[in-house]
Amino acid sequence: MAASRDEEDGFVNGKRMIQVLAGAAALTMAANIPVTAQVTPAERPGIPASPAAVPTAPAISKEAQGWLADLVKINTSNPPGNEQIAAMYVAGVLAREGIKAELLDLTPGRSAVVARLQRSAVAEPSRALLLVAHLDTVPVDKSRWSVDPFGAVIKDGYLYGRGAIDDKGMLAANLAVFIELKRSMAHLSRDVIFLATADEETSGDASIRMLIAKHWDRFAAGFAINEGGNVFLKNGKVQYTGVQASEKVAFNISVIARGTSGHASQPLKDNPVVHLSAAVAKIGNYSAPVHFTAVVRRYFEGLAPLEDDEIGKWIRSMDTPDRGEHAQRVISDASPLWNSMLRDTISPTVLTAGFANNVIPPEARANLNVRLLPGDTIDAVLKDLNKLVNDPLVKLEVQPNAGLAAPPSSLESDFYGVITKVVTQEFAGAPALPFQSTWLTDSAQLRLHNVQAYGLVPFPLAQEDLRRMHGDDERIPLASFDKGVEVLRKIVTEFATAH
Ligand SMILES: [Zn+2]
Repeated sequence: MAASRDEEDGFVNGKRMIQVLAGAAALTMAANIPVTAQVTPAERPGIPASPAAVPTAPAISKEAQGWLADLVKINTSNPPGNEQIAAMYVAGVLAREGIKAELLDLTPGRSAVVARLQRSAVAEPSRALLLVAHLDTVPVDKSRWSVDPFGAVIKDGYLYGRGAIDDKGMLAANLAVFIELKRSMAHLSRDVIFLATADEETSGDASIRMLIAKHWDRFAAGFAINEGGNVFLKNGKVQYTGVQASEKVAFNISVIARGTSGHASQPLKDNPVVHLSAAVAKIGNYSAPVHFTAVVRRYFEGLAPLEDDEIGKWIRSMDTPDRGEHAQRVISDASPLWNSMLRDTISPTVLTAGFANNVIPPEARANLNVRLLPGDTIDAVLKDLNKLVNDPLVKLEVQPNAGLAAPPSSLESDFYGVITKVVTQEFAGAPALPFQSTWLTDSAQLRLHNVQAYGLVPFPLAQEDLRRMHGDDERIPLASFDKGVEVLRKIVTEFATAH
């Protein structure tokens, strides 16, 4: 997506910052990056109008707005990431509070950062709570932004910038809650661990997989809160909070058509461009069968009464023998998110073929990005697709480095209970629903290590703002940010302190 020049700029800036920071003897120096953004929101758009939901933001969220602005200004577009600079900044902020943070090095220029508030001298990792966010962001296409994506520009009550929501917003909120616990000298009932990860966006060599392999003992925990779920606004009010307990699994499949290369003036029956196009068209029109996972079943049960009568009726009919299939179609057509929560999905994403206008190429390729429901297998999808394509000239190959399916987090744990209780109170009774994200997060790797990990970006966000994540003009309403910091603080206080 990013122009290569953008990436180069980021790298040069990153290198310059490393040189500046490397000269500093102590990490505290990193905290001295000046807060130049004007971080006082003029208005408070994007959160419910009910007075209870618009409290005066406590001082900590004003500070957190400053940290968010600073983090947005540190370009961590991945690739290349350069998360070490952001990790040093975070360590510096913590150092000013008297909290010792540790940089966990992954690859050159790429680090995670971890810090711990300890309950007692006796470590009890299975009780510990992990606050997780990632330091890197997806790249930008600067030409499509109306403001500098790394300027942390404040406009009309929004803070604009790459990562404002995903995931520097959550990172700054975690930092605020963690620091507030320290400042208030809260009596902890379990260790609270702050963790900022690297390379989340490409799941590469510096990602949480490597972090766990190299440094698990630094942040081993039984519970985690991370990105992955959202507080969904509809018509200016919180409709529901989706607490991510499970996520889909990503694969890539190459579609490869091979034929005879030749002079374009004499068309050939085995032209791979034609065979590939036909295969991709069939796959594009294909819809895999619906499977209800336990999380998705609970999600739709909770959602039905929140939707209008018509949609509610079709949601309730999805699992009935007579109207089920029709209902599934109506619901899938009503929302790409719902469609993808209900079934394995396949999106053709990249086409490659040909090298000259007058030459029939010997090969044409497409990439399919596949998102499996947890529990489904890529072999089964492959079998269905082969049957569908049914062309001896076209081969399908699963690419390496696929995701791993993780068991869902429990919907019965104490932590899940605390999260749902707090958000229901904080958002004027709008319910919390278990959520299965169609996108990946670091939580899958944590769940594979027996962590009850839940996804909740605590900021109330409208579709209009959610769709800007990974897109242009990403922004966060500052009033939503403040509210999210407060909600997260209440969740963590309730779960991790004696009160
Ligand atoms: Zn993210």
